[in-house]
Amino acid sequence: MPQLLIATTNNGKIREFRDLLAGCGWQLVTPRDVGLSLDVEETGNSYLENARLKAHAFCQASGLPALADDSGLEIDALGGAPGLYSARYAGPDTTHGDKMKQVLAALAGLPDAPRTARFRAVVVVAFPDSRELTAEGVCEGIIAETPRGAGGFGYDPVFLVEGGPLTMAELPAPQKNDISHRARAVHALRDALQRAADGYPSSAPTRQ
Ligand code: IMP
Repeated sequence: MPQLLIATTNNGKIREFRDLLAGCGWQLVTPRDVGLSLDVEETGNSYLENARLKAHAFCQASGLPALADDSGLEIDALGGAPGLYSARYAGPDTTHGDKMKQVLAALAGLPDAPRTARFRAVVVVAFPDSRELTAEGVCEGIIAETPRGAGGFGYDPVFLVEGGPLTMAELPAPQKNDISHRARAVHALRDALQRAADGYPSSAPTRQ
């Protein structure tokens, strides 16, 4: 089976991609699996630009096709923040506990504002011959009053899914992987990715 590099060190994303891409014809490997340590600066002005930067950098460094996502939480009352800066919100070295506290504090200052929000993910697969696949997925929801649940990662505990009673962190993993922004993006490019696996050489990568 040919190898596909998951271009992230975020264990939450890695876990989800393993579930979402099971049976798609690729053997998934992580940067750690291939001895690669690469910190790509997210200097783009959009999720697509950042996902492309990551996918192409990891592809070039490993010689393997590489899949990256760039994603974030967009809160309408905060003008779309934290958005592109979700991972860096409240400062680069803060925990997601701190980031969620900051989100809830910002919304507490706007008691009459709607709490509508969405997770957005853009997934890019970069191939060594410069071909790429791209797709976007969105999951709508509402920001909860307090964090709840222990599943998922990131902002999941404050995200009530599609207006229902459960936060993303309270959903069992298979249910998150049915409806999440990441799941929707992967679903949109899964067939093309599977076709690309057919006939792709499964030989060892050549480092560049
Ligand atoms: P990046 O794509 O690595 O720049 O960071 C994405 C950031 O968005 C994560 O660190 C989280 O803060 C947030 N995020 C993206 N996807 C999810 C998700 O599925 N659940 C919770 N938070 C997420």
